Amino acid sequence: MAPDVPSRFVREPSDSERAELTRVREAWPAATRARAAIVLLSAMRVSVSEIVQRLGLSRPTVTHWLRRFDRSGVPGLLDRPRSGRPARISSETLRHITMVVSARPRDLGIPGTRWSLARLRGYLVQTGTVPALSQELLRATALLAKLGDDAKVLSGGQSLIPLMKLRLAAPHHLVDINGLPGLAYVREDGGALRIGGLTREADLEESDVVRSRYPLLFDTCRVIADPIVRNLATVGGNLAHGDPANDHPATMLAFGAEVVAVGTAGERKIPIGSFFTGPFSTALRPDEIVVEIRVPSPKPGSGGAYVKMERKVGDFATAAVAVQLTLSGGVCQEVGIGLTNVGSVPIKAVKAEAALRGKRPDEATIKQAAQLAAEAADPSADLRGSVEYKKDLVRVLTARALRKAIERAQKGA
Ligand SMILES: Cc1cc2nc3c(=O)[nH]c(=O)nc-3n(C[C@H](O)[C@H](O)[C@H](O)COP(=O)(O)OP(=O)(O)OC[C@H]3O[C@@H](n4cnc5c(N)ncnc54)[C@H](O)[C@@H]3O)c2cc1C
Repeated sequence: MAPDVPSRFVREPSDSERAELTRVREAWPAATRARAAIVLLSAMRVSVSEIVQRLGLSRPTVTHWLRRFDRSGVPGLLDRPRSGRPARISSETLRHITMVVSARPRDLGIPGTRWSLARLRGYLVQTGTVPALSQELLRATALLAKLGDDAKVLSGGQSLIPLMKLRLAAPHHLVDINGLPGLAYVREDGGALRIGGLTREADLEESDVVRSRYPLLFDTCRVIADPIVRNLATVGGNLAHGDPANDHPATMLAFGAEVVAVGTAGERKIPIGSFFTGPFSTALRPDEIVVEIRVPSPKPGSGGAYVKMERKVGDFATAAVAVQLTLSGGVCQEVGIGLTNVGSVPIKAVKAEAALRGKRPDEATIKQAAQLAAEAADPSADLRGSVEYKKDLVRVLTARALRKAIERAQKGA
């Protein structure tokens, strides 16, 4: 029996949608319907036993398909803890479903099901179960894979175009992702702030949730360049550029964020700690596009701050420090400290963090952590200052950022 999957757990379709769905469903062969249902139910965290029961299929058939999808780059369908009851569909789950239904069947290891997968996707898009972005996104990643090193992603163009003007970059092809739908958003969901890869800095600045719940991020986006740049520059581009002088890298290090990238091989979550691999280099593969940045939602008693020293408004930092921490009973339980523009890569000041963790952040502890952050900095001398000056600046800015973050945590910011 064909299950009434999406309408039961996602939302009630309208009458016309229902009629269309019935038409599409009836057009599917029974085996395809069952396969689609397995993936959908699993993605909704329905237990394997329950899927078996509902669909009247054998357990080996159900696990066979879940494994197959798992191996094909849509992981987590089998491992995800299930309560045995359907859960609300998170956007992560939706992304998985999108990947399943819009990838080429060959990529998923399912030869011969192109027709049915395409139909399934149409069905999901129509019911609003998945955003209609993946066909375009996957086309863009396929193009990047085909063009290889000769191509560059173009989003806001605020770093790439200046580099091209200076002839420091000369890609033969630009893959403009500005037209990809569904990649610009800021929302809290599933214990994280989710920032779409194409979200502009100006949108962060205007977001109520950023302003009220993520002061570190709010501080950061307001000091990036100037309003004209911020209207175009994207958060995805700021990170993907891998410039240690950019402001988001240190902030995302302090948050312990995660970068979600999609390429021809599927979706990958890259912890920010392993994202920056060298000067202007990241862990992104040439065919991958940053689609989302996930910032863990702050626990009660959290506060953050970004303190930047710049020569003039709109300039890159001479040095800047990002701090995110959580206090419990006056003790610093969690802390992240990121440093901007004082090394060939963005720096996580791990020794400074260790000096604070499990302690009451009194003045002596703050001073010690600030000193350790200065020691972690590895700047070069340039027009912005000498090595000694920049290191000392990190010490001063770390202490300031810590005090501000603590004050905000105490106020429940
Ligand atoms: C005058 C000026 C001042 C500036 N000041 C600051 C500042 O103070 N602080 C600061 O942080 N930055 C500053 N910047 C830099 C700029 O703000 C960021 O680097 C910008 O956010 C990059 O985003 P973008 O969308 O413009 O990326 P683009 O310029 O389009 O791309 C940058 C790089 O990232 C890659 N890329 C872009 N998007 C993606 C994606 N979604 N997936 C994979 N790869 C991608 C591109 O291929 C390219 O290599 C300044 C820029 C200017 C022009």
